Amino acid sequence: MPALSLVTLVSLVSTVFIKQLDAHPPQQQHQHWAQICSGNPTNRIRGCDRYGCGNFGADRHGGKGKHAGVDVICSDGATVYAPFSGQLSGPIRFFHNGNAIDDGVQIRGSGKYSNFDFTIVSTLTTFLLHPNSYCVKLVCIHPIRYHGQIHRGETLGRMLPMQKVYPGIISHIHVENCDHSDPTHLLTPAVPPLPQQDGRWAAVCSGNPTNEIRGCDKYGCGYYGAPRRNGKGKHHAVDVICADGATVYAPFSGQLSGPIKFFHNGNAIDDGVQIRGSGFCVKLLCIHPIRYSGSISKGQVLGRMLPMQRVFPGITSHIHIENCDHSDPTSNLERGKGQRD
Ligand SMILES: [Zn+2]
Ligand SMILES: [Zn+2]
Repeated sequence: MPALSLVTLVSLVSTVFIKQLDAHPPQQQHQHWAQICSGNPTNRIRGCDRYGCGNFGADRHGGKGKHAGVDVICSDGATVYAPFSGQLSGPIRFFHNGNAIDDGVQIRGSGKYSNFDFTIVSTLTTFLLHPNSYCVKLVCIHPIRYHGQIHRGETLGRMLPMQKVYPGIISHIHVENCDHSDPTHLLTPAVPPLPQQDGRWAAVCSGNPTNEIRGCDKYGCGYYGAPRRNGKGKHHAVDVICADGATVYAPFSGQLSGPIKFFHNGNAIDDGVQIRGSGFCVKLLCIHPIRYSGSISKGQVLGRMLPMQRVFPGITSHIHIENCDHSDPTSNLERGKGQRD
């Protein structure tokens, strides 16, 4: 067997990488930071109090300066967690006057492209293209240490007693990107804080209130991970049983985009739509949506099941439901059992 040259390998990896980028443009990647403060699972940002406002760009020094960070609400003494994995450095001081909250730490590390299907591509591209994807300073906290490695979600330290310095302020961690860019979008949680309560999807097809998944028929099986293309591929989706012509409902609230096609051959079922919102992103294929843009609410009519029997006679007709990041949506569909709220 001929040895694979480095050039061939790099070219192979690049091809896979480009294909991956195609399938998942960067803005669709999992780029959200983890919860930073205990008691604030959504990284809620300080509003305004008599000392100022917590949003990025808020006025400082009587309008002469701007807030170069974002203030994430955090009670004095609360546990602070690392928003992403990286390398610690510090101490980082803001006041330089030794007051009770004059402490902090910097984290520099990666985070982007972490959910690529191919670990080697992820590692290579992170290393080659994004050696330091994120760099942030967390101020007004006392870290467990000022150096070494920390992992996303690990305890990073403790919120300092801000009320002692600013009585009546909304206590907060000052979160500042090292390049002074706006970190607000990174602080938005990727998934709702209480998935058991908020993560249930509604029934997606009339006549199938429990989102029952297609079993196996002569064309294949409907579960996540089922073999495809004679075992050369896998089903990165779940097939929810749905009769031809049945009404299709939105599993959660979000923004529509499309059309999303699977077959790209213009057959009778080559249509679909994407919904992004409520912490989810899915593609629903083999349906004809009411429209391809705008917002939709959970349980609202999304469209109509296309005539699958015309293309695959005898198949268990179904909506192909695929998470945008190719993860397994089964548990979300199961949580939808009987739920239409
Ligand atoms: Zn601040
Ligand atoms: Zn499918």
